Amino acid sequence: MFKKLSVSTLVFGLAAGAFMIDASGADAAGKRQFIAIGTGGPTGVYFVTGNAICRMVHRAAAEGRSKGRKHGIRCSAPSTGGSNYNIQQIKDGELDFGVAQSDWQYHASNGSSKWKGKQFKKLRAVFSVHPEPFQIIARGDSGINGWNDLKGKKVNIGNPGSGQRGSADLMIKAAGWTKKDFKLATELTSTEQSKALCDGKIDAYIYSVGVPNAGVSIATDGCGAKITNFNGALAKKFVTKANPFYAWANIKKGTYKTTTSDVQTWGVKATFVTSADVADNVVYEVVRAVFENLGEFKKLHPAFKNLEPKTMIKDGLSAPLHKGAAKYYKEKGWM
Ligand code: GLU
Repeated sequence: MFKKLSVSTLVFGLAAGAFMIDASGADAAGKRQFIAIGTGGPTGVYFVTGNAICRMVHRAAAEGRSKGRKHGIRCSAPSTGGSNYNIQQIKDGELDFGVAQSDWQYHASNGSSKWKGKQFKKLRAVFSVHPEPFQIIARGDSGINGWNDLKGKKVNIGNPGSGQRGSADLMIKAAGWTKKDFKLATELTSTEQSKALCDGKIDAYIYSVGVPNAGVSIATDGCGAKITNFNGALAKKFVTKANPFYAWANIKKGTYKTTTSDVQTWGVKATFVTSADVADNVVYEVVRAVFENLGEFKKLHPAFKNLEPKTMIKDGLSAPLHKGAAKYYKEKGWM
């Protein structure tokens, strides 16, 4: 009893401190809502994306309070296992929103690939964010210069639930390989893989992430790892008209210390998704907070540099658009 009391006093104390002028607002009216956004590993760009979205939501809340426009939404964006984990948790009602690769948005929504027999019909698209090129990151002394060289090597294929793992499984299959074709296939998280590479525990890892990424730079700038080209026969099997969620991509020379020329590869887009069960007004307010503050949002990570409403509301979105998001885009005359 005592414990319970002290916890709620603490929560109240924090809330009162952070939202002082809101004393008679959303909370008192019982309208305060908490939303959770699934992201990825703490060193990835999804984690920044989710937390940047929350920051804009709280910013809109603060601005709204001073103008008498209250949405009452409080937001958190914990680190998670990544794309497929997030989609599954949204499906299970454990998360309200999540960041997910465009390929996994497509497959979950259509019940294809890994989502065969588990179709998530209520999956809804909100907007897309930054491009995520598929990257083969290899030790400088590994002799790995592309996909074919991964055979017989120690390769991290990613933790189950991550977007890169789902995609790596498809690549392995499309190449006609199994995990046995590697000397070792590890399932490390994105946070562990660069250190494992620098320590010589793995020769390479496969990762889909926004550019630049601090986690990748631990391997490139920290111990001389290289990002190889990935645009040969295998990539060509994926980047086809039948797979609109894949596109050719390049990583510019100079991005990392070892990026001495442009890297040619292919990839997906990071997208922001939710469920049809999440209320229209909640999605509307989250979307509004991001787009009304897009200039600020873009400053929060260099991977957001080229974001524009026109492409964000279209590219990489294959699930139906959530009604709350569509309402805002129509109001803006973007749709
Ligand atoms: N693309 C990765 C995934 O879907 C996440 C990358 C990141 O954390 O930025 O799991």
